[in-house]
Amino acid sequence: MSGPAPADDSPPAKRQRTEDEPITRSEIWYQDGSVVLQAQNIQFRVHWSILSQNSAFFSQLMGLPQPPDQPTMDNCPIVELQDDATDAEYLLKALYNLKFLYQPMLPLPVVSALIRLGRKYDFRDVLEAAVERITFENPATLKEYDARRNWEEKTTYTPTRIDPYRAFEFDILTLARENDIVSALPAAYYRALNRGLDSLLDGIPRDDGTLASLASIDLRRCIRGREQLMKAQTEPGNTWGWLESELWDYDECTGTSGQCDFVRHALFLDMKVKDPIKLRALNRCSEGYFKSMCNPCRLYVNELVAEGRKKMWEDLPSFFDLPPWSELKNDP
Ligand SMILES: [Zn+2]
Repeated sequence: MSGPAPADDSPPAKRQRTEDEPITRSEIWYQDGSVVLQAQNIQFRVHWSILSQNSAFFSQLMGLPQPPDQPTMDNCPIVELQDDATDAEYLLKALYNLKFLYQPMLPLPVVSALIRLGRKYDFRDVLEAAVERITFENPATLKEYDARRNWEEKTTYTPTRIDPYRAFEFDILTLARENDIVSALPAAYYRALNRGLDSLLDGIPRDDGTLASLASIDLRRCIRGREQLMKAQTEPGNTWGWLESELWDYDECTGTSGQCDFVRHALFLDMKVKDPIKLRALNRCSEGYFKSMCNPCRLYVNELVAEGRKKMWEDLPSFFDLPPWSELKNDP
């Protein structure tokens, strides 16, 4: 059956069906179904009413007159999709089984299929539910970003709505950029570049042995962003800008023998001179660093770091050649 072209620019199906592959039935085969969808060599018998209720594309397709040479099976028209059979299966599972769609954690390949096919065929609710997982993990506010982090773990971050695996930061970034989930991009770039220069350049092996590597546009943004963030983190007003002061002379300091300045100076050397310099633009104030400072200085430092983090979060999109947060709105 031919019909309206899907309204998007999705890449073609990963693998087209070859003639010698036998056509098989999926488990998704409703005896009272009214349309057979075929992706690669897998057929799914489902309902026009379910498809058209959820998708503007299928709603329009259902209304078109069927051509006389329309292939059918058991009186159901066969609609061939130029999509991966596994992707089609995930989409149909999501449509028919809300428990599947709304389970606490979903594997990224499922989220990815729902976003790509959801956009392509305009399955609004499915698309929104999948995009929400990406924006939850990569939020647009510092408050939400902090809430997602387990600060006890220091540098690592573990997603809670998408099954974690070794290379998830790279794959989420690619998915968000390819599908214009723009509000997620600053956090996604920041998370990806935190995997370090070697991972950026060499890629990260996935658990199945394939390699997750970034497209050149993302690689460029990550590497340049990383370089600029490391420079900016110790600039005035930013997270660690206060370390630059010539001498620590906080009025309310109650420390003796310059102990507070000693701590400040040690951290200054660590941030500015140590090789390699670590990216700490959005790090919080770690108690360990400052425990030798007097109490008033510790509180003051906490305040300065908190203010600096807010500023760097505000500026975060600019480090990746992105427009300001106010313009990073996802398409409805
Ligand atoms: Zn002090």
